[in-house]
Parts: sequence; structure tokens; C-alpha cells
Amino acid sequence: MQFPREKIEKIFDEIFALAERGAGFIEPNPKVGAILIFENGEKIAAFHEKFGEPHAEILAIEKAEKFFMKKKLPPEKIAAKFRDATLFVNLEPCAHRGKTPSCARKIIEKKIGKVFIAARDVNLKAAGGAEILRENGVAVFFADAEIKKRARKLNEIFYFFHEQKMPFCAIKMALSLDGKISKKNKRTQISNSQSQKFSHFLRLVFDAILIGAHTAKIDDPNLSARNFAEKKFEKSANKNPHRIIFDGNFSLKNLTNLQIFRDENFTICVSKKNLKSARSKFPSQNVAGFSVKNGEFQIAEILQFFAEKKINSILVEGGARTAEIFVRQKIAQKFYFFIAPKNLGEKNSVDFFAPNFLNSLNFKIEKTQFFGGDALFSGDFLW
Ligand SMILES: [Zn+2]
Repeated sequence: MQFPREKIEKIFDEIFALAERGAGFIEPNPKVGAILIFENGEKIAAFHEKFGEPHAEILAIEKAEKFFMKKKLPPEKIAAKFRDATLFVNLEPCAHRGKTPSCARKIIEKKIGKVFIAARDVNLKAAGGAEILRENGVAVFFADAEIKKRARKLNEIFYFFHEQKMPFCAIKMALSLDGKISKKNKRTQISNSQSQKFSHFLRLVFDAILIGAHTAKIDDPNLSARNFAEKKFEKSANKNPHRIIFDGNFSLKNLTNLQIFRDENFTICVSKKNLKSARSKFPSQNVAGFSVKNGEFQIAEILQFFAEKKINSILVEGGARTAEIFVRQKIAQKFYFFIAPKNLGEKNSVDFFAPNFLNSLNFKIEKTQFFGGDALFSGDFLW
């Protein structure tokens, strides 16, 4: 079967949308969708649904086999179907056997004739599938630069982590219309419940949530994904993110009744080096010391530490000063800014970023979403 550019693009539109459905359940794996197209136009689609479970390509193959068996096709006819089929997938089929069998091997076993790939795998453990396929007689094609770009954007966390060897960082903030993030020293609810639900979804997508000690004390949050759609949440109940607290002087050491220390999810305090006496009261795995220059943590050094702990992504949730450090050091890649129709007023309110600081920022809004009366602007920082 021939696939003109327009048709290929349509198929990948569908694949990207399919793959996205795995978001929140498959991390740290990439989002993957696969579509098998058979000679007479029959189409079978699947996506990677949950971490540790079969990859999209395997699911599509199994689904197709069941479909043809139901149609009572004899085995040799099913085999012929696969030989003439084309498999479309947004990520190069994996070469390795990890938690699940290698997709490249499965494609070879089924003797699928053609494979169309949007982007290469950059996880060294899994990459090389295209070569294995070619060595075994499968015709492998790569999509053009535009589709590849979209495929990389779809899995931006995955590509960033494996290429830069650093966690992908995003800043999430809720602002009032007058640009405030809270009342001073007081827990302030700015966004509505629908926005919060989406925030909890983000907590499923990111490996770790980062806040400052001040926010931990004032808000006493538990930083879980508990409010995300109940039924789906059950599916990923053990997937609450790690919590990272910026606490230079380790001021939380006596506040072990805070929610972040009370449940089974992992919390780590990032403090200054040489705070041994303070640390002795705390389990060593929960506190790590880093250098401070001009009163500020050096984010790259801290990210290096978390990269080694296989934390692929960090969502910085505040407060303003903590988020500001990431921006000042040009570390954050992405932002999620919720705007709520509220005015907190000048008195006793905390500014989002200092005005002169905001002027120096360059960013690009890529998406606008609405949650009830709140707006969410998300996009990329341009450094
Ligand atoms: Zn695979």
C-alpha cells in the first residue's frame, strides 16, 4: 500500500492523540501510540497504557491477531496479512527486553513488512530497534522533519532527560488577575477545583514535585495526585510523585508532623552543606546537602544529583522565590500559569515574579486551556 505525505500525517495525528492517553500512567516511559494498517485498509490502533505493561506495538499486534482470529482467518492467511501490513509508531520500536519483550523482535517474529517511525529512541538501553528491523528484512522508513519535531515535543520530558542527562523542569503557578500568588504567610486558594484537578494530573506526569520550605510550612500540602479522576487514579495509585523541599537551613527538621513527612511517599530536603548537627535528627536518605553561592542554591548541581536518582522530571510548585531561582538560573524548560479571576490586592500579598525580573523573561505560550473560570497558559521558556 502506498502512503502519500498527507495520509502519513493524518495517521500520525491519530497516533499522537492516542499516545497522549497514556500520560500520567506510563512515566518514566515515553508516550507511544501504534497503528497497523493492512492491505485492504483494515486499521488496528493501540497505545502504551501503563508502566510495566505491554508497549503499543505489542498491543496493536495482539489486537490484530485477535481481530483476524475472530474473523476465522486461517493462520497462513493471518501471516500473509502481517507480511503486507505497515506499522506506524511515533517512537522507534525498542530493541531491548526490559519489563516487557522487545517490540523490534515481535515485529520480526510477525514478519511485518514495513515500519514507519516518527522519531528515534534516545534511551540507550532501548535504542537501535530500526537497525535490528532492517537487518531482519523489515523495510524501515522515518517520517519527515515536521512529524519528527511533533513526536519529540510529545515526549519532551523523555527526550530532554535522555539527551541532557538532567531532569526536565517546569514551573507551575496559580496567579490572581492582579499578579499575586498568595496572601503573605497564609494559605491562599487561588485556582478553582477544576484547575486543581489538572494540577494533580500534572503530579502524575512529573516524577517529583518541588517546593520551598516556607510553602511547606504555610500550606502543609501533601503534594499527592489524590484529586485526579478517581477511577483513573486507582490505576496509578502507587504513582504519587517524590517530593523535594528547598530548605537551606533545614528549618523543617523539627516539623515532622507536616503531611509531606507523614505518608509513605518519599520526601527529600535540599539543604546547605555542613548542617550535620541538624541532619543527625533526620534519616540521612531524606536530606542532602548542596553548595550555596550568593545565598542561592546552584540548581544544576542539584539536578545532577536527582538525575543520578533517575528523576526524569521536576514540577516546581512554589513559592515565588523558589520558582524564581529556576528562572534566574535559566533552568526551567516549561511553565504552567493558571490565571484565576480574583484580585488579592496590594496589601499583604506576594508578587508572582518581581516586575523588573519578569521583563527579562522570554517565553512562548503554546497552549491555552480553560478550567471553569480559570485560564491555563502553558508553554516554553526561551533562553
Ligand atoms: Zn517496545
